[in-house]
Amino acid sequence: MTLVEIKNVSKEYKTGQKALNDISLSINKGEFVVVIGPSGAGKSTLIRVINQLVSPSSGAVLFQQQNITTAKGKKLRKLRSHIGMIFQHYNLVERTNVLKNVLHGKLGQVSFFTSAFGRYTQEDRQIAMELLAQVGLLDQAYKRADELSGGQMQRVGICRALMQNPALILADEPIASLDPKSSEIVMTQLKEITESRNMTTIVNLHQVDIAKKYATRIIGVKKGEIVFDGTPAELTEEK
Ligand code: ADP
Ligand code: ADP
Repeated sequence: MTLVEIKNVSKEYKTGQKALNDISLSINKGEFVVVIGPSGAGKSTLIRVINQLVSPSSGAVLFQQQNITTAKGKKLRKLRSHIGMIFQHYNLVERTNVLKNVLHGKLGQVSFFTSAFGRYTQEDRQIAMELLAQVGLLDQAYKRADELSGGQMQRVGICRALMQNPALILADEPIASLDPKSSEIVMTQLKEITESRNMTTIVNLHQVDIAKKYATRIIGVKKGEIVFDGTPAELTEEK
């Protein structure tokens, strides 16, 4: 079943910088897609047009068969509530404890400005604690986020995204700031969670070896275009 359909999407930023050139692609439910390519290739832009954090200059993105590119207000918020996002720099509220950071995910679209305005039920707290247990961070629940290591912070980022019970997770360079060991932990957890929850995940990376190890499908992007789309086994060295 198609979850995301990108139709002839191009993006030129207001600066005149071209980031995507006529991209078309569909992603099925259950896929663990890794988007690889050099810095500046357009990977982050490609991920961000899917939840409309970046608005395409032309073309459209359908999420769950609905046009998210033209969606506004309540409809956009509804569509986005099914899409969790994970960032390179975690975007946690550093002076707030881990549990509250996870609960912030309940508010939906995560931004630097998510604050403690939300009110949470006992059930929300229980779900948050269960998620923390799943990623091995139950003991850290009442620590301040900035007391954790980078790898731990990113696992909190995963829990926060899961708080929305999303159909899709977009992870933009989630391991770019992590050491190799923490990177493997984060990728393993993302992969396991995708499978066990019957979700779909799209991850941006620049390391081909890690892409090959975890992806069910690899999409190679260069200069705003798709230069490869296939299984890890099909990705040979020269590409
Ligand atoms: P959009 O066309 O999607 O509205 P903008 O071109 O207005 O996006 O840029 C959004 C923000 O990103 C602006 O505040 C801009 O200053 C900032 N920005 C500009 N250049 C870059 C860049 N190369 N990488 C990341 N962010 C940038
Ligand atoms: P990647 O994730 O592969 O590094 P990006 O999608 O971030 O690539 O960027 C693609 C191109 O668009 C780059 O040239 C980048 O500098 C530019 N770019 C990204 N965001 C913005 C922005 N907000 N405003 C202007 N240019 C941007």
